Amino acid sequence: MVESVFMAELSWPEFSAKMAAGAPVFLAVGATEQHGPHLPLGVDVILPTAIAERVARNVGGIVAPTIPYGYKSQPRSGGGEAFPGTTSLNSQTLVLVIRDVIHNLGLHGARRIVIINGHFENTWPIVEALDLAIRELKHDGINDMTALRLEYWDFVKRETLDKLFPEGFPGTDLEHASLLETSMMLLFRPELVELDKVPDDGPAKFPTYDRTPVRPGFVPASGVLARAQGSTAEKGSWLVEDHVSMITAAVKTEFGI
Ligand code: ZN
Ligand code: MN
Repeated sequence: MVESVFMAELSWPEFSAKMAAGAPVFLAVGATEQHGPHLPLGVDVILPTAIAERVARNVGGIVAPTIPYGYKSQPRSGGGEAFPGTTSLNSQTLVLVIRDVIHNLGLHGARRIVIINGHFENTWPIVEALDLAIRELKHDGINDMTALRLEYWDFVKRETLDKLFPEGFPGTDLEHASLLETSMMLLFRPELVELDKVPDDGPAKFPTYDRTPVRPGFVPASGVLARAQGSTAEKGSWLVEDHVSMITAAVKTEFGI
């Protein structure tokens, strides 16, 4: 028997047995999006998948293949769609992909699902997809799925943020490609981080509204919205410890495991 936390590495009988035993299924939803000159396009896939893997190990769960494309990058939270390599889905496309995955997992026995968002702009498409999937499952006579939906970055202690940002936390939206994501990438995938390319054209100063078309110079040219200076793997480990332990606790509470 193959012992893996990744669904894609299990055979169908192994998957089926885990579903029958009530194993939670973790589905990360990411994006393929610019993250400045010092980070790869896959940050929003790599980070939630790594967190899902660790939580799944803590609770006997499995990790479904991560959805690698997300909803359109917005200038004030991801730099926008103009950066080469940022490759996004229309919201209805993304909703239908996530809906179908959850629906299929449910048809095949999943009764505990945890959707972990890795990209700021995905929140409402995930909410919509989950609602549609639950409705479809009800049509199919399946009424006993419990799903959790979360943004991994919300699972962090105040003390940790104070330690990371002695001068004040700029906010999760502005943290795009900045200290948090860079530090966690240094922990998980240091070979993909080029610290010598960390730019110095931030932090962005945005108004509290969107404007289309975006004014030239609205987004820092590097695509980094706050600051990545001072990122370290150790800081990444403080964040990951909070994310993994606090999400694990929520999953155990909600699923009674
Ligand atoms: Zn990101
Ligand atoms: Mn993103």
